[in-house]
Amino acid sequence: MPNLMLTNWCNYKCAYCFGMDRMVPAVPQAAMSDETFLGILDWLARTNYNRPIHLMGGEPTLHPKFEWIVDTLLSRDYPITIFSNLATEKAPVYASKLGIMPISWVVNVNPPEKWSAVQRERIESALSNLGENAAITFNIMPHEKDSLWAIELINRFNLRRNIKVGFVLPTVTQANYALDDDEYYIVAEKTVELARAAAEYGITLDYECGVPTCAFTDAQLGELWKLGSKVTSGCCSRLDITPLGEVIYCLSLATILSRHYSEFASYEEAKHWFEEKFAPYRQLGRKIECATCNLMRPDKCNGACLAKNLIDVKNLNIQP
Ligand code: SF4
Ligand code: SF4
Repeated sequence: MPNLMLTNWCNYKCAYCFGMDRMVPAVPQAAMSDETFLGILDWLARTNYNRPIHLMGGEPTLHPKFEWIVDTLLSRDYPITIFSNLATEKAPVYASKLGIMPISWVVNVNPPEKWSAVQRERIESALSNLGENAAITFNIMPHEKDSLWAIELINRFNLRRNIKVGFVLPTVTQANYALDDDEYYIVAEKTVELARAAAEYGITLDYECGVPTCAFTDAQLGELWKLGSKVTSGCCSRLDITPLGEVIYCLSLATILSRHYSEFASYEEAKHWFEEKFAPYRQLGRKIECATCNLMRPDKCNGACLAKNLIDVKNLNIQP
């Protein structure tokens, strides 16, 4: 399931963005070319890859040929998920045209009180067209009062009754704002509060990668399970492919390792290559208890965010 980064720039400038190392202004602006896009599709087709393709950025709706890219994927029967903030000029137009198509949208929203008037108009217009084809996702912040606005948005626009929550993850270079260790417990408590309020409206939570299960107490984990918002997370990326065709494990680890997609025979080979390269560092974990924790598995917690765990490693020696 590759994530195609159609652009490496964004209309937002969020301090928490973990894409900073691979986005403008850290790198020159680039949109995925026709040649790279079609080359990746041929590469996937050679191994009969027919699982979903995720379109992301930067901000994918800023790509000048966004509609052609979506049409091409639809014509090849790929299931599509689009990750967008819906606050670009074209987003409401695309939402209106594509809202009836079997496309899933994951909308990264900041609290509505932070939207400008123009952003509000675009986001609300787009959401009203997407309805239940759209789910919202956001990071739960330690210093914000609550996230009840998310429930209001879902009810108002009849969005998918599920919220994907994230704990802000660092890039390995620490370019972005991320949580301090002692803030994980604060965010965990806020997550439980949101899950409680959401359950009253039949809304459940699921979780982005890198959420450490042990940030929650056993009582909190039990309560979330009962609410239908069981904590599941892992550090096990779908690979990202940048606008220039470079494969990375994820944006947080982008500066450590990358390779052009054409150097791999298949997506599976690329995935295996990255997992092998990072495997010696997995046992580091987040804390000493990870060594014996039964959640230390790729599809479970896996020591939470590897990028965070690598930040203080002085003798990192991963050869491309
Ligand atoms: S290192 Fe793992 S948890 Fe952190 S952002 Fe990458 S995939 Fe997610
Ligand atoms: S693997 Fe490590 S970080 Fe994850 S729950 Fe276990 S002890 Fe915590």
